[in-house]
Amino acid sequence: MSSNSICAVITDETLAAARRSIQQAAAVADLIEVRLDYLRDFDFSNPENLRSFLEVKSQPVILTCRSVEEGGKQHVDDAIRLRLLVEGARQLADFCDIEAAHYEAAATLAPDPSRLIVSYHNLTETPSDLDAIYDRLSGLPAAIHKIATRARSITDTLAIFKLLARARSEGRNLIALAMGEAGIITRVLGPAYGGFLTYGSLAAGEGSAPGQLTCEELREVYRVHGISRDTVITGIIGGKVAHSLSPVMHNRAFAALDLDFVYLPIEVDDLDGFFRRFVRAESRELGWNLRGLSVTIPHKVSVTRLLDRLDETARRVGAVNTVVVEDGGLAGYNSDVHGAIAPLERVCALEGRLCGVIGAGGAARAVVYGLLSRGARVTVFTRDPKKGAALGESFGVEVEPLASLESSEVEIVINTTPVGMRGHSEGTSPVSRSALRGRRVVYDLIYTPLETRFLADAKAEDCQMINGLEMLAVQAEAQFELWTGRKPPDSLMEKAALESITAR
Ligand code: NAP
Repeated sequence: MSSNSICAVITDETLAAARRSIQQAAAVADLIEVRLDYLRDFDFSNPENLRSFLEVKSQPVILTCRSVEEGGKQHVDDAIRLRLLVEGARQLADFCDIEAAHYEAAATLAPDPSRLIVSYHNLTETPSDLDAIYDRLSGLPAAIHKIATRARSITDTLAIFKLLARARSEGRNLIALAMGEAGIITRVLGPAYGGFLTYGSLAAGEGSAPGQLTCEELREVYRVHGISRDTVITGIIGGKVAHSLSPVMHNRAFAALDLDFVYLPIEVDDLDGFFRRFVRAESRELGWNLRGLSVTIPHKVSVTRLLDRLDETARRVGAVNTVVVEDGGLAGYNSDVHGAIAPLERVCALEGRLCGVIGAGGAARAVVYGLLSRGARVTVFTRDPKKGAALGESFGVEVEPLASLESSEVEIVINTTPVGMRGHSEGTSPVSRSALRGRRVVYDLIYTPLETRFLADAKAEDCQMINGLEMLAVQAEAQFELWTGRKPPDSLMEKAALESITAR
């Protein structure tokens, strides 16, 4: 077994499916946990019944039949449940996982401590007295102790990393993780920071706990087996990042260049607290080898005041999408500008060109700055010109109501609003089809779906179309270069993002 172990959690409802999953897991995991409480056609009363599916195992198996109070799927009488686990581990499996609350009852069955995992779960929060919980738990003889709590925010993961460091220094086997999307970093880094294993599901959407990644993601995207405490850390910080395409793009490029880097989705609500406790060298509480961060909604503007220097582009745009952690402090860059403009420049020269930008948010600022820096003439169209006034003043461009786009002379139209995006307003467009008639290029920054209603209308009007995928890849390539000093292989990031979009 690798020292960083991935444990596939089997959550099938039938014995036949569980048997198939155990066989499948051999290709992606180092251990297997069978969640018996998910099984609907299983007779829990006789441990011998486990043989029907455990006979196909080729890896160590943990048996778990979780009590309903700690997240179990069905009620199984405690006496039956505990006997099944203790006897099953003794005769047919390798470990059984028993909640600390049931330790005494299980002790009457004389379990083999070398096959015992004693666990504590808190599905609602990460309690402030986690050390005391660990003290109580580790007083119960077992091969492995496990603490799984719910991360309400990224700062809750600090308590988990502290426990892992403590267990490491005491020479104990500990599984510690924070559930929920804010806890994903504990699932990826946990084993390298002292955890006995990390859990993964066999298929997306089949996770047994919130925030759980698939075994394939842990292996192939995050390359968990190769992570150590020296691995250079990068990641994306934002409000909702669990489904971001950036980890797939960056991690694929790190792997292609054989770089000991990993890129993580980091859900951050309290930006100041995150910078103080995780980022700033003088106050950070996590001993990680942090090199850089991508920054997304809603932190692109507010992050600027937490940095030591901004490059010219970030300063002029007033927003940062890339942070580089340097010896002398934190530097901010804006690769959205280059990302947004490069795809346009590939199809036409921008000097003197009349451009219409729809929307006046963060992305619009990057687009307007980029267009002006290439000598284009820009008008911004917004649903509320008063709201767009600040952007108009910052860059000295006209701001018009959206309705006047139709009668304007612009040759290039760029949508920077989220209108038409999957999960937001798919199938709608910020403007009517007739407003796109006769335009030379129509560009949508959205990349899911790849063809929005806005672009479908442009296609119907014979305009040249550009979607947001290339921007996504180009801005990521620039970030990658800032952090590693290397260029990612040509079109690798775009290909990784495209594969991920089409697989979803
Ligand atoms: P943002 O700061 O929230 O700005 C959104 C803008 O859209 C605001 O001006 C908003 O106007 C306007 N808007 C929203 N709904 C509208 C509607 N129904 N009709 C007209 N205008 C509307 O967001 P952002 O960071 O600029 O991002 C915007 C889009 O760009 C997102 O879809 C994002 O995915 C995309 N993007 C893509 C890339 C890439 O790499 N391809 C990079 C960055 C962003 P109000 O102020 O009136 O609400």
